[in-house]
Amino acid sequence: MPTIHEELNRRQLLYSLLMPVMNLYVPGLDKGKGLYFLFIKAETKTPGGLLARPVLTSYYKSDHFKSRPYDPFNVYTSPNETILCPDSIQSMYAQMLCGLIMREEVLRVGAVFASGLLKAVRFLQVNWKQFAHDIETGTLNPKVTDPSVRECMSKILKPNPELAAFITKECSEENWECIITRIWPNTKYLDVIVTGAMAQYIPTLEYYSGGLPMACTMYASSECYFGLNLKPMCKPSEVSYTIMPNMAYFEFLPHDDSSAQDSSRDSPPRLVDLADLEVGKEYELIVTTYAGLCRYRVGDILRVTGFHNAAPQFRFIRRKNVLLSIDFDKTDESELQQAIENASVLLKEFNTSVVEYTSYADTKQIPGHYVIYWELFVKDAANAPTDEVLSQCCFQMEESLNVVYRQCRVADSIGPLEIRVVKNGTFEELMDYAISRGASINQYKVPRCVSFTPIMELLDSRVVSKHFSPALPHWTPERRR
Ligand code: AMP
Repeated sequence: MPTIHEELNRRQLLYSLLMPVMNLYVPGLDKGKGLYFLFIKAETKTPGGLLARPVLTSYYKSDHFKSRPYDPFNVYTSPNETILCPDSIQSMYAQMLCGLIMREEVLRVGAVFASGLLKAVRFLQVNWKQFAHDIETGTLNPKVTDPSVRECMSKILKPNPELAAFITKECSEENWECIITRIWPNTKYLDVIVTGAMAQYIPTLEYYSGGLPMACTMYASSECYFGLNLKPMCKPSEVSYTIMPNMAYFEFLPHDDSSAQDSSRDSPPRLVDLADLEVGKEYELIVTTYAGLCRYRVGDILRVTGFHNAAPQFRFIRRKNVLLSIDFDKTDESELQQAIENASVLLKEFNTSVVEYTSYADTKQIPGHYVIYWELFVKDAANAPTDEVLSQCCFQMEESLNVVYRQCRVADSIGPLEIRVVKNGTFEELMDYAISRGASINQYKVPRCVSFTPIMELLDSRVVSKHFSPALPHWTPERRR
């Protein structure tokens, strides 16, 4: 994505509005700190010699962030040196250690997306013994080698056996329910995006945080920052983002079946301006940015929920791309998400939830079929869901998918849906793999559909069981139009 220096000012403007809005709803945020897990990635150069790096890396490396004036509402537990460390493991280690040391001052815990915060919880799960050791002795793990991180940690880390004992007690317990509020008891809310593809993390975050509110504060992308949520403490399902009309020139492509057909014809599609949007309708977002993108399709579908003064407000509906298709069927991200939600209701009585998922259109055999990889969180191993239950989950997913999918199933042009349960930690390995190939931790999103061979190999090598839908989903010709 092209960007220009001046764009940083515009992004800063949006960031600078977040705390004044939050302050309207949550008092006292100037009396403590925010524990945020923020990361940068190494930079590369384009063949033409331009700097290329993720948008958040640009921001964290800018003077806007590094030399920000002191603001009591925006004090982080992580020193800049820990955020700016290019080794993400050392960075995470130091940021978590700071968060533990300052645990009583922490008033909010966050990351950019929900997946980043869950990665941090998992990191604590794996490394708590080492953290307790460092805190007890006041020495930093020798695996942290970055000199500037070591130097800044030497000022923060002092022997504190009492805190070390507390961390050992909390983390050695088998049950990690409410771990966030147990370790950071003054946390008022989680600051993470849980709208769109991140919605599936809500139950896991609720489990770890004892149901703390989750604030989705802003809506942004590499292309352009879009807007903010003026009611950040509302339920995730009610979040609307207000577009800031000064961030770019915004236009909208109506998103309904007839206009989708129009856009595939030769004539250019009819675009709607910000001022002419209609409440309740869905649109695809088109931006013309100061940095040079011209009528660029971001790929997000938004529904207008209202206006703040004259600025429209949107619910994020989904990314436009179709995820899975075997025959005539087209399953998108939100349909798949809904199908998984419906199927996972069957797991409730087994105290089990779906922690992560991805999908694959397997066309190696005829007919092809949908494969859904599930990582499960089984609270009670003695009462884990059986093959029969998981097969029923396959069936339930099929029942939840759209009419064209069900028709293709009945016509035998799609085979029975398959769930492959993978070992715990598999999706974390997937993320590590993506990061090793250049993805940014801050902006990483689990791919909801995979086809890249090394990823398939990784997933398939972690499969612990396979389950198939035992019956055809419901479909009758009368429903056909
Ligand atoms: P990236 O440029 O990789 O950071 O990805 C930007 C995309 O992430 C957007 O176009 C959206 O699809 C998604 N995204 C960003 N912010 C939000 C949000 N608040 N809610 C839902 N999806 C979001």
